[in-house]
Amino acid sequence: MVEPPVLDAFSMYFTGSGAREHQSNKWQLLAKARCLSVLSLQNSSDKASILAILQVISDLLSVGTDRRIYYMISKGGSEALLQTLVDTARSASPDSDILLPLFRLLAKVGLRDKKFGQKALESEALDVTLILARKNLSHSQNLLHCLWALRVFASSVTTGAMLGINGAMELLFKVISPYTRKHTRTIRAATEVLAALLKSKSNCRRAVNRGYVTSLLRLHQDWHSHDVTNTYVLIRHELLLCLRHIVTLRSGREAFLAAQGMETLFSIAQTCLENKSMEPVISAVIQILRQCYPESPLPLVTTRSAYTFPAPGSSSSGLPQGLAEEDLEDDGDEEMDKDSDAEAVKEDDDLETDMNKLSPNPGFDLPEEELAQYAVMCPELSYNCEELESKYGDDLNIKATPFANHHHIPSVASLRQQCFNREHSSWGQESEDTDHISILHLVKGGKSSIRPSSKQRPVMNGNQSIPQNGFGIDSSGHDASDDSQASLEQAAWDIEAISCPRITASFSNSTKSEEGNETAEKLLHAHLKNTPFHDPHLYMANAMRTRSAVGFKMMALPDLWGHCPPTTAQPMLDRKLGVQRIKILEDVRRLLQPSDVINKVVFSLDEPWLLQGPASSCLRFQSKFESGNLRKAIQVREFEYDLLVNADVNSSQHQQWFYFKVSGMRTAVIYRFNIINCEKPNSQFNYGMQPTLYSVKEALLGRPAWIRTGSEICYYKNRYRQNAAAVDGASGKHYYTLTFAVTFPHNDDACYLAYHYPYTYSTLMTHLEILERSIDPRQVYFRQDVLCQTLGGNPCPLVTITAFPESNSAEHLEQFRCRPYQVITARVHPGESNASWVMKGTLEFLVSSDPVAKLLRENFVFKIIPMLNPDGVINGNHRCSLRGEDLNRQWLIPQAHLQPTIYHTKGLLHYLSSIGKGPVVFCDFHGHSQKKNVFLYGCSMKETLWQAGCTVGGSALLEDVSYRMLPKILDKLAPAFTMNSCSFLVEKSRASTARVVVWRELGVSRSYTMESSYCGCNQGPYQGLQFGTRELEEMGAMFCLGLLVMELRSARCSHKLLARATALLNADVLDHYLQRCSSSSSSSSRFSEVDDEPSCMEEIDYSADSSSDPEHNLAELDRQIQECAFNKDEEEGTEEGIGQRRRSVP
Ligand SMILES: [Zn+2]
Repeated sequence: MVEPPVLDAFSMYFTGSGAREHQSNKWQLLAKARCLSVLSLQNSSDKASILAILQVISDLLSVGTDRRIYYMISKGGSEALLQTLVDTARSASPDSDILLPLFRLLAKVGLRDKKFGQKALESEALDVTLILARKNLSHSQNLLHCLWALRVFASSVTTGAMLGINGAMELLFKVISPYTRKHTRTIRAATEVLAALLKSKSNCRRAVNRGYVTSLLRLHQDWHSHDVTNTYVLIRHELLLCLRHIVTLRSGREAFLAAQGMETLFSIAQTCLENKSMEPVISAVIQILRQCYPESPLPLVTTRSAYTFPAPGSSSSGLPQGLAEEDLEDDGDEEMDKDSDAEAVKEDDDLETDMNKLSPNPGFDLPEEELAQYAVMCPELSYNCEELESKYGDDLNIKATPFANHHHIPSVASLRQQCFNREHSSWGQESEDTDHISILHLVKGGKSSIRPSSKQRPVMNGNQSIPQNGFGIDSSGHDASDDSQASLEQAAWDIEAISCPRITASFSNSTKSEEGNETAEKLLHAHLKNTPFHDPHLYMANAMRTRSAVGFKMMALPDLWGHCPPTTAQPMLDRKLGVQRIKILEDVRRLLQPSDVINKVVFSLDEPWLLQGPASSCLRFQSKFESGNLRKAIQVREFEYDLLVNADVNSSQHQQWFYFKVSGMRTAVIYRFNIINCEKPNSQFNYGMQPTLYSVKEALLGRPAWIRTGSEICYYKNRYRQNAAAVDGASGKHYYTLTFAVTFPHNDDACYLAYHYPYTYSTLMTHLEILERSIDPRQVYFRQDVLCQTLGGNPCPLVTITAFPESNSAEHLEQFRCRPYQVITARVHPGESNASWVMKGTLEFLVSSDPVAKLLRENFVFKIIPMLNPDGVINGNHRCSLRGEDLNRQWLIPQAHLQPTIYHTKGLLHYLSSIGKGPVVFCDFHGHSQKKNVFLYGCSMKETLWQAGCTVGGSALLEDVSYRMLPKILDKLAPAFTMNSCSFLVEKSRASTARVVVWRELGVSRSYTMESSYCGCNQGPYQGLQFGTRELEEMGAMFCLGLLVMELRSARCSHKLLARATALLNADVLDHYLQRCSSSSSSSSRFSEVDDEPSCMEEIDYSADSSSDPEHNLAELDRQIQECAFNKDEEEGTEEGIGQRRRSVP
């Protein structure tokens, strides 16, 4: 018997107002506790009491948050309810008045109790419910309630498996009938239970063995054909979910294929693709089709790179792997049932929690005589005052070279046209005297001046994939002149001949040059404009010296010419809904209707004899030039090509970067390209990013530019799979397709398509040479050394930038010798060309006449290694060196003969450290393919331990928090930068990266990786825009400004510097970043990296792997129960159709 006071308490509680409810928290807890204790007694046979208690609990749980339910679960509520069910069901005459509300309550609580399935199993509630369901097959309302309970029990896979053993699936197939309009609620509940049961692999096997695949397909077909008004989409969806679970088994897929499942579902998808209300059905159909599409190996003779290089210590010259279909691994059958209750895999497993590995470890492993070689690379340290005089004499009379535009900061000044008018001051003039447009005007505070003018551009559709005005602007923002149009037509140049000039002959020696070069020379002569910091002739000279693994003989015209994107940023592409599913259905169509598939190899590095003559009607491809990457092209249909990207040299992976020439196109035709061997699980191509295109004809018409182009872009997992026997530990991996459509601007044009704006090694060498020529040697100390030779035999440049001492006075010489160092590196990953554009901005800014740059030079020595992996860049690699290894995983123990650039960069840092000149900041520039904006990764022991939930050391641990200062400052200054994506966690998997090694071994607390998106920004003034090179270069300049501001805020900062900076930076700006930086908002460092590119945080709307969403199910079942409970006193059966009373005893 229930004690009357308790019931009183309940009724008091529930008659109380909302306000009273809030003020009586204690009451509430007490009431709950009493309620549970009463219920758990379970010896009451008083129907009225049990009903009252059930009512009270149900009311109690139906208001407020789920916290009450969880509280009840923690107090044994589930067990009590289950026991009540068993007792009631086993009584002589089970009472449906009790059972129905009890089932509803069970379902509600059970949905939120992770152990509910197990508890049901232990209390024998499972058997009892199955028996009740069998007895009530003809009583839909009772049956419905049993099904809800079964649905909740089946949430646990082990319990589901037990239900399967006990014949639950057979029972359900008795309930799930062909199309009917009666009892549809019950039928739907039965399909839901069946889908839940089929999450268990053993149930799936049972289903296959009993022929349920065919039954389910027939049932679905029946409902699909009769349910013309789409009233029962959810039943059809659940039937498909059942199939979807079954086809995760190989035997399930075989049964599905044998039952003509592909054809059936493909035709269903065709009929309802455009119908919004059919969304659940379509998405399930697509998922099943993807799962069942037979896997096949890539259409390559080997996944190993088409290029090899006899690198020292290389074990990887290895055996080419033939790809055989029978090697393809099965992914499901042997898998054991996994209980969904299993502990979620801990995300933070990669965090370093070993204190020894987090603590500084400043041991020098280089002997002193080794270190001495780096002294040569730091001649500024042994500088004496005679040097400058002997070099230039008292009266410096340096002629400006044609490129000397030292007051020109392209990255910054190009933002404002008026800048161009002010840049012709003479050497002697102090830049501060002029009304200089400094970088300071471009900091975030004044960012309104930056006008992303293309933001309002109309969104392009498939037929206009190239923004019309994108091609209307030349690199300096002027409209194209008509006379270049004329000259193009007059000359009638062969686009093929000039678009890829040979590098074997130089222009200075044109008598020996071949025909193509004569044309190219004419071309340059006719069209040469002064591209800032570039010179085609110099480029060609550098390209001749550049050594590639395969001996490239051609140059890509955009590199030769030095062309960039227009100065106006392009908006991100709006993704059309359903792009991916249309692509997938197209892929399925290839399988089911192969008659119109051409499948002709039109380009292959492995089969060069296949190269098409110019007469061929299909597109022609070329990738044998610096940074080029395309391995194979297969014409699939008339205007559709499957492309395969080459793996990194001496490797069989890292396909991501592409850069190739395509010619022989027709205009007004939409071409589709599918790059089918990508490796990353996600890409910014799913979130607004477009590849880049350069048209040679447009360039000849005076509109040379790399343009973001392409429509109907998406990136998805495809049916290709790596051979299981492959080496490199990458066996059985899946591949991804990047697909995009392009409309070319001209007939018979030659166009270049690239992953991102290319920046070759020869471009860098040209850039450095021009930079050196352009500087005023009295103002800028600029020195280029060779850090080392790469494995491929290319010099790796080391740049030193500072200022000469103000005078020969002892004081000035002392200041000069005491200048701290800053070390910046980039492009260790060759596919990250965006990092080179940022570096370009840094270099140009540092040598510029901007007063901020002047202050920086006068107060620091910059040591810059702009390209840590020249060989990788040259040979079109994405990630690795010529040895096929990721150089940013070699910092722990680099070896001079294997990883020379890393070895000597580390050596130089050790040297600087050994003479007390360890850098203030070390930063390595990278590119990021899965996130937007620009951000830093740093290292913090404390944040890492905290994030890992590790209490070692705990709060007593002291750590200098200055590592946060630079990112906070950049967050305020740089339009593209955001603190929100920064992270300061130290991962075990990153123990061998530059950032972590420089932090730990060299004790540089401000050791960073700076990541720039390939895509663009989703915050700040560039929100919604894709990066051009201008935004990236600006970031490079802003990084330098950040270094100055950081210095101003440091204790070491001299009064003199502070005074000069204060005079320079107007009060507003100073206030802006000096004040507000310190009060900078708390930032998130919660993103833990999985790779350099962590998995995307954004939602993909077409995930191949998403099974039915548990959250959604929870809400939906809740809703159904609620609806039922609400209507329980009314005449039931609007849907059920029969006005049958629910009085019969189960
Ligand atoms: Zn990287």
